[in-house]
Amino acid sequence: MTSAEVANHYFRKAARIMDVGERIETLLATPVREVKVQVSIELDNGEIRTFQGFRVQHDNSRGPMKGGLRFHPQVDQAEVLGLASLMTWKTAVTNLPYGGAKGGVQVDPTQLSLKELERLTRKYVDQVHDLIGPTQDILGPDMNTNPQVMAWVMDQYSKYHGHSPAVVTGKPLELYGSKGREAATARGLQFIAREISRDVGLALAGLRFAIHGFGNVGSHAARLFHEDGGLIVAVSDVHGGVQNPRGLDVPALFEHVRKTGSVRGFGGGAACSSEEVLAADCDVLVPAALGGVVDARAAQAVRAKIVLEGANAPCTPEADEVFEKRGVLVVPDILANAGGVTVSYFEWVQNLQHLTWDEERVNTELHRVMREAYEKVAQISRSRKLPLRTSAYVLAIGRVGKATVLRGI
Ligand code: GLU
Repeated sequence: MTSAEVANHYFRKAARIMDVGERIETLLATPVREVKVQVSIELDNGEIRTFQGFRVQHDNSRGPMKGGLRFHPQVDQAEVLGLASLMTWKTAVTNLPYGGAKGGVQVDPTQLSLKELERLTRKYVDQVHDLIGPTQDILGPDMNTNPQVMAWVMDQYSKYHGHSPAVVTGKPLELYGSKGREAATARGLQFIAREISRDVGLALAGLRFAIHGFGNVGSHAARLFHEDGGLIVAVSDVHGGVQNPRGLDVPALFEHVRKTGSVRGFGGGAACSSEEVLAADCDVLVPAALGGVVDARAAQAVRAKIVLEGANAPCTPEADEVFEKRGVLVVPDILANAGGVTVSYFEWVQNLQHLTWDEERVNTELHRVMREAYEKVAQISRSRKLPLRTSAYVLAIGRVGKATVLRGI
């Protein structure tokens, strides 16, 4: 199943429960616009290389569209479409005044020099600049794109349209970025973990976490859960993993990652594979890497009581069914990892108002947004006896559907 099929499956499931009708269902499922562009650059050695770039704008009924830009060899049109629709539902669950979009370039960025990466980013912006903008479609960070990439996006877009920091979020602090954006997705996960553990009667201190993926989301999550008194019992990244049932020494692990670039080979635990991290004996599993990593077979092996989706679409629908049957509580991506886009929204607001918030304000506002979203979803789940994922979709589809109808077709 592609990400588009996965997102579509969850959307249709909730839409049928809500009985929105086939016509509205089709309208909401169909993206506003999909583009595929040529991204050709000259490599440092003079060779010409051509990559495929994508931008999918899924829905704009609740506001300008918003969504990240990812660089990955497996990015394709279907994946970007699925991820764009997730952004529509995510911004609706959190009640941000946005629609959803996503972009990507099919490239392995580890094979490019910094200069080549800059040329690639600028060329991508050249190809889509007419379709994006602070009131139309706002880019942000995603897999393998960072504040530097966002700075190039801002600079290149501004060459066409004049000074426009609000066209992209996740920028460096020195260039109109927001305090708290870097750790925002993980902080959102932390707030949700606190709500959930209270609701299911588990004490946060001593709660055992397994984290699959140690990029921006996974690494900050490990730090924040550790700060809350949680035990990080297993972690993995693309190179390998490490586990320790008594809890890894998180500051020492960070030092190891700083020196070697990976969690692999960390001496404070036993080496393990990323599959073993998914199946680790723990209370909370946080898949925070690629989509689709938890399939039905992996789901059978999961020992956690709670799955907190740090990544986008990490669990297949088959895995979701396994979890439902086994009574494993899944907190869906469109709620769990919404902290990133929420602070992106705060960054956009600051850019439009030409002012800056301190970190405390950012985190307080983030807490409020995440708590309200969780409460609404949990309430639907309780009253309609639905899993959290379906409940989140019910909330989101209701909001997007109402906005669509109120505006008029
Ligand atoms: N890439 C993040 C997501 O999937 C955030 C994108 C943004 O900040 O626009 O939610």
